[in-house]
Amino acid sequence: MFDNLSGRLDAVFKKLKGHGKLTEKNIEEGLKEVRMALLEADVHYKVAKQFIAGVKDRALGQEVMKSLTPGQQVVKIVNDELTELMGSSHEALNLEGTKPVSVMMIGLQGAGKTTTAGKLAIYLRKKGEKPYLVPADVYRPAAIDQLKKLGQQLEIPVYPSETNMDPVDICRKAQVAAQKAGCNTLLIDTAGRLHIDEELMGELLRIRDVVKPSDILLIADAMTGQDAVNIAKSFDDALNIGGVILSKMDGDARGGAALSIKSITGKPIKFIGVGEKLNELEPFHPDRMASSILGMGDVLTLIEKAQSVVNEEQAVELEKKLKKNQFTLEDFRDQMVQIRKMGSLSDLLGMIPGMKKNKQFKNLEVDDREFIRIEAIINSMTPKERAQHTIINGSRRKRIAKGSGTKVQDVNQLLKNYTQVMKMVKKFNKGGMRGFGRGMLP
Ligand code: GDP
Repeated sequence: MFDNLSGRLDAVFKKLKGHGKLTEKNIEEGLKEVRMALLEADVHYKVAKQFIAGVKDRALGQEVMKSLTPGQQVVKIVNDELTELMGSSHEALNLEGTKPVSVMMIGLQGAGKTTTAGKLAIYLRKKGEKPYLVPADVYRPAAIDQLKKLGQQLEIPVYPSETNMDPVDICRKAQVAAQKAGCNTLLIDTAGRLHIDEELMGELLRIRDVVKPSDILLIADAMTGQDAVNIAKSFDDALNIGGVILSKMDGDARGGAALSIKSITGKPIKFIGVGEKLNELEPFHPDRMASSILGMGDVLTLIEKAQSVVNEEQAVELEKKLKKNQFTLEDFRDQMVQIRKMGSLSDLLGMIPGMKKNKQFKNLEVDDREFIRIEAIINSMTPKERAQHTIINGSRRKRIAKGSGTKVQDVNQLLKNYTQVMKMVKKFNKGGMRGFGRGMLP
């Protein structure tokens, strides 16, 4: 996501950084290009105009002129303004009120409502809440079945809606059923249409007035760009929504919707959908998204992902081992398995600052099969070999290659990589963070 915009902005900033001192003309020229880049990313023209005015104001003021590194200062201003444009800080779901509370999920057909209802249910369960799914789209029988199946798969209770029931009635009854089932949050999957029409709005209003939801979330498809923004505006005008979930941010959406929605509707993006799988939902953090657009990496999201798969005990144990330089090939394999749980390696690399811009990694399509090969090689070693890699001589390498269905070169490469990591770890143990930083630099 945002790849084109990132590339364009990067080129502008490179030019600006090339000037030791910035003149008003340099800045004006740079900002013209930033404006073009935003429009190309399908950002609403009013938003782009306002954005440039904001950056210009600050860039031409004291902030940049007095700065020692004017180019970088402009990047910082753009970063701050982008963050503000998207809403400054993460806005959580509103779950306040007498339990069970209800969250209405609304949106056009195909936007991803039902999938997102499942994703949110898992998200809430992880947070210790007790979600309850309510299929209220009685016009499309498949929608009810889809949610019932999801619920079964996730072991989350679903209200047994039928197509001949009235949606408002379903919601009213579901509130009672959820309470009986000991659940505290209803996720109501409402009906969608291909286009906004009065009948749909009327039904949603009736549901809203009866269930009095703590939050109303519009699910909008990021791939539709400015349409998503217009849809958000229409739904908000009619229903006063609480926020937006932008789905399909993993596609080749140019990013315009993410950048314009808050500014046009005044309502925050609360989550983004980044894939079809049920764990592919992320809380939306404007500051992190801005840094990611500017290629500064999305380290906080990376850390959060890591924390969600590595438990604390394991982390402490690992730290001890690293400190004592006892990080064996077996630990290496276990770490790799953990990393794979976080998602695809290419996505993870993109979150590390500088990686996107690093030539070495630019066209890197990380092959996840590589992981499988490494795992197979380590699995073919004896426990002693894994604990003490220096004993792995030529004949042992041959045996390991044969056992894992790989080539001796693959085994050599793995041992070389491992030795390099160990060298880095030793440096880290000696020189603290600074030593580690030096080890990481190319
Ligand atoms: P609904 O009609 O609004 O309930 O939409 P669905 O939940 O049935 O989703 C429509 C399609 O979009 C399905 O094929 C989903 O798998 C897909 N989808 C939903 N969210 C995402 C997402 O974040 N990324 C991608 N790539 N696909 C998604």
